[in-house]
Amino acid sequence: MPGTLYLVATPIGNLQDMSLRAIEVLRQVDVIACEDTRHSRKLLNHFSISNKLVSYHEHNEVDRAGELISLIEAGKSVAVISDAGTPGISDPGFLLVQRARDAGAAVVPIPGPVAFVCAVIAAGLPTDSIYFGGFLPSKQGERRRRLAEVADIPATLVFYEAPHRLLRSLADCLEVLGDRKAAVARELTKLHEEIASGTLSEILAKFAGKTVKGEIALVIERKSDDSHPLAAADAASLADRISELEKMGLDHKSALKKAAKESGLSKSEAYRLVITKK
Ligand code: SAM
Repeated sequence: MPGTLYLVATPIGNLQDMSLRAIEVLRQVDVIACEDTRHSRKLLNHFSISNKLVSYHEHNEVDRAGELISLIEAGKSVAVISDAGTPGISDPGFLLVQRARDAGAAVVPIPGPVAFVCAVIAAGLPTDSIYFGGFLPSKQGERRRRLAEVADIPATLVFYEAPHRLLRSLADCLEVLGDRKAAVARELTKLHEEIASGTLSEILAKFAGKTVKGEIALVIERKSDDSHPLAAADAASLADRISELEKMGLDHKSALKKAAKESGLSKSEAYRLVITKK
């Protein structure tokens, strides 16, 4: 009978965010796989956990996953932790989970902090639908392409970003996505926690010329109707087309439906566009 793989979330800054269940599981498993053994030993010492640690990081992920799966297949229990937050979220974990599932082992998540979730719930932007894009690419061309790819997703967008790239990324966001509302969530749960919100241009102005430090999650508003490709002038021509069709004898509903189809919009999109421009 295979053992169990536990995915254990740990704090993203504030040690008091460690869950009782995380402590219990980390005490009980046969081995704990972590990114950096020295870093994790400090965390474990704080909670008087003296369990065996092995390294499991992006550079030894493939080999180490094989070794850990052999242990699980032999009936042992393994916990994975990352340097901070939830394993598998912009951190190693996925490969091991995939292989553990393939081996028929139980995979048990032990929930806790995730930086992007904390950022998005505190940003003041809608949380009904959220797109998490991990780290934005570090090269400008790729970053802009990535932003263009996600520009139309009807969800609040969240990314991780390094502090030394924040200003350049904000400038690219402004250029590619337009001046949307946003929030920079810095050092969440730590002493210097800061959640700076406003439009992208306001946030850019706030951080301009400063040396930005700490860990950052960037939250950006979804595309609004105003930034719809058919906004402004095109909305007026959509309205013109509807009246033209009405003059040709169509009732308003049918004219709207036809004009929407001609413009490649759904009926509800066309309706929203025309109504918000009235
Ligand atoms: N697994 C982690 C999680 O659950 O959020 C994320 C790990 S990823 C390698 C590290 C990045 O997460 C940082 O560079 C930063 O963008 C974001 N992050 C981590 N801790 C944070 C914090 N306290 N405040 C804001 N962002 C944080």
